[in-house]
Amino acid sequence: MKIAMIGTGYVGLVSGVCLSDFGHEVVCVDKDPTKIDRLNRGEIPIFEPGLDQLLARNVEGGRLSFTTDLAQALEGVEAVFIAVGTPTRRGDGHADLTYVMAAAAEIAAAAPDGVVIVTKSTVPVGTNRKVAETVRATNPDLSFEVASNPEFLREGAAIDDFMRPDRVVVGVESERAARVMTEIYRPLFLRDFPIITTDLESAEMIKYAANAFLATKITFINEIAALCEKVGANVKEVSKGMGLDGRIGNKFLHAGPGYGGSCFPKDTMALARIGQEHAAPVSIVETVIKVNEEVKRRMIGKLLDLCDGSFNGKRIAVLGVTFKPNTDDMRDAPSLTIVPALIGSGAEVRVVDPQGRHEGERLLPGVRWQDDPYAAVEGAHLIVLLTEWNEFRALDLSALADRMATPKMADLRNIYSPADVVAAGFSTYVSIGRSDHA
Ligand code: NAD
Repeated sequence: MKIAMIGTGYVGLVSGVCLSDFGHEVVCVDKDPTKIDRLNRGEIPIFEPGLDQLLARNVEGGRLSFTTDLAQALEGVEAVFIAVGTPTRRGDGHADLTYVMAAAAEIAAAAPDGVVIVTKSTVPVGTNRKVAETVRATNPDLSFEVASNPEFLREGAAIDDFMRPDRVVVGVESERAARVMTEIYRPLFLRDFPIITTDLESAEMIKYAANAFLATKITFINEIAALCEKVGANVKEVSKGMGLDGRIGNKFLHAGPGYGGSCFPKDTMALARIGQEHAAPVSIVETVIKVNEEVKRRMIGKLLDLCDGSFNGKRIAVLGVTFKPNTDDMRDAPSLTIVPALIGSGAEVRVVDPQGRHEGERLLPGVRWQDDPYAAVEGAHLIVLLTEWNEFRALDLSALADRMATPKMADLRNIYSPADVVAAGFSTYVSIGRSDHA
């Protein structure tokens, strides 16, 4: 089947590459000519493990190509996916649908009759119908169908998530659209991955409800962690004990510096706005948004305590600034709240991140970037471990402590054992939700 994918960001590019690997002929389109030039040279504009090889294999196989020319990409397609950004609209927290609607109008002007227009972007309930209205208003003669197909992949594990999904969700209104979607995902269907076919509104809601639930789970354990610190419990033990209950599950129960990233902050906000607009407030989610901000602020308080009440003149080494490991994505990362607070109060901040520098240089002005953690901690008063990259999981703790002015560590991902850090020569080790601090 011939497919066009609009948007070559984290979702569009991974989806396009994987669909071509399923055997479809996929043309990926982006407005950004630099991205398309790079892709045509075989370079990947984002960091996503394994994507380069998969892309090369399918380009070589003649199934995958890249262009800025949407009209050309739409020639002979049976389906076109919209995978453009839906960021938070400035001022009111709603999802900004400008890019989705612009893509819909562009599709209307050039798509062949019979096309299925699939929205993969995360969009509020009712958007697929608005896409259909926009298409009809732009080109009343076009015959088309719409389908909602929200994406659940995680950056850093995106290919595996796309190829081996927990489920595929498809919202449709017609037999034909359902048939086309089944054909697109046939390789998964054949391997028994669940495909949920439902109505447009339910498909749109599943995505927001799932993300809001996960954000709630993280925030729940973050609040329990704060309580653990007060009452002398260890949140790692608590998470383990909770997570073994099959009704709860052990995923997303790791205490940390607050959730961030390109989805949870904006999707929780958008769901809260949808609820308010329909006079059915999702108060749990509203609270989660508020508490998550408090969690990030609480981290700054922890660091301040470690710096004896003042960041001024302190040299702080920050390990990891991306919102999670294995991605270069910095959107709404906790580091964007924490690092500026340190710099704004007079700290000298040195940052090491395996992939974050490219984006981070723009977003974190005033920090000094270093490649090597051991060089970064030279003369430092504090290490702040913010992202649990594998590169930071087995550091030579004695070598770190030896190089520091005051060997103190704030491990905001709980990756080290307090006893090991202290045995290595650190005078102070603080983590999240564990009262057995040195
Ligand atoms: P992104 O910002 O990385 O990429 C969007 C791309 O779309 C950009 O390259 C942009 O140039 C391009 N674009 C915008 N308008 C265009 C147009 N009219 N024609 C051609 N190209 C256009 O975004 P993303 O992270 O891939 O997210 C896309 C959508 O998927 C969002 O709705 C997001 O919520 C959702 N989503 C993201 C993730 C994730 O982990 N990033 C996971 C699931 C769902």
